[in-house]
Amino acid sequence: MARVYNFSAGPGMLPEEVLKQAAAELLDYKGSGMSVMEMSHRSSWYEEIQKKAESTLRDIMHIPDNYKVLFLQGGAHLQFSMIPLNLKNNGKADYLITGNWAKKACQEAKKYVDVNIVASSEDKTFSYVPKYDESSLSSDADYFHITTNNTVYGTRIRQKDIVCLDNVPLVADMSSNILSEVYDVSKFGVIYAGAQKNMGPAGVTIVIIREDLVKEVDPQIPTMLKYKTHADNGSLYNTPPCYSIYICGLVFEWVKKNGGVEALQKINEEKAQLLYDFIDNSKLFKGTVERYDRSIMNVNFVTGSEELDKKFIKEAAERGIVNIKGYRTVGGMRASIYNAMPIEGVKALVEFMKEFELKNS
Ligand SMILES: *Cc1c(COP(=O)(O)O)cnc(C)c1O
Repeated sequence: MARVYNFSAGPGMLPEEVLKQAAAELLDYKGSGMSVMEMSHRSSWYEEIQKKAESTLRDIMHIPDNYKVLFLQGGAHLQFSMIPLNLKNNGKADYLITGNWAKKACQEAKKYVDVNIVASSEDKTFSYVPKYDESSLSSDADYFHITTNNTVYGTRIRQKDIVCLDNVPLVADMSSNILSEVYDVSKFGVIYAGAQKNMGPAGVTIVIIREDLVKEVDPQIPTMLKYKTHADNGSLYNTPPCYSIYICGLVFEWVKKNGGVEALQKINEEKAQLLYDFIDNSKLFKGTVERYDRSIMNVNFVTGSEELDKKFIKEAAERGIVNIKGYRTVGGMRASIYNAMPIEGVKALVEFMKEFELKNS
């Protein structure tokens, strides 16, 4: 079967080039006589893979030297707990609630710290990014948590619109838009992201953390949940998800080869524009979020009829345009157009939407 255009929100599409290289190296990695899956994580072969993955990521994200890059497990979900457990000091944290993931992060944090909700867009089903100013932030918070891209409803926060306090570390869940647009790492205390949207296969979570935030914490906290454990051991305290990290490394090199995050951002904006322009001029399809806040990774739209939505999803799949169904609690359609989705995929989708509109309205 030919490869399809996979609009899945996660795990998402990977660059074909990367999959081909992985396939070519599957049985014998560079003359080692074994697969990366079979290697000791203490071998020099593997150490080289992980080191290279880290240095390429540092390069493409321009990560300053006073930041650690950690390869952890447990998904973005485990970071919802690790953040408060490790950054807790005064026992207070600020959360901006821009989607269901932001809400889940906040709910988990409530187990460990007092939470101040800076602003929320839940009143309108997270269809916009709420405005807030410094007066809603706590100067004595241990950190301020945001989610840069709302994967489910399709909004995002641009770097220039982030309001934060200099003395309170900014923590960002970037799971669904890391490497898709430029963010200045030096403005953040912690950035975390599950790999499976824009970096690689599920199983590894990247944490980029400013060194001064890696500290001794309550000894009751499980060893595996302390950033210090992983930072002190180069993310090799225990067996890391070696194969996932290897694929992430290949994806980072692919990003670099394609001009880095700066160049991908331009392509991503172009891809999103194509889709939103069509939606805005369509008589059948409608966007579901505020224009300014629209995500360039997850594009949500509806026909207004559940029946037509269903028909659209079914007929799209017959054309090799798959996984375009909206989130289970949202309905409608969601096209996730991560870095690896080529512009041809977006064009094919728009073409199909045009045809569908002609036939059904
Ligand atoms: C997918 C996603 C998560 C959940 O990630 P897991 O790795 O499955 O825990 C959290 N936050 C955001 C923004 C996401 O897109």
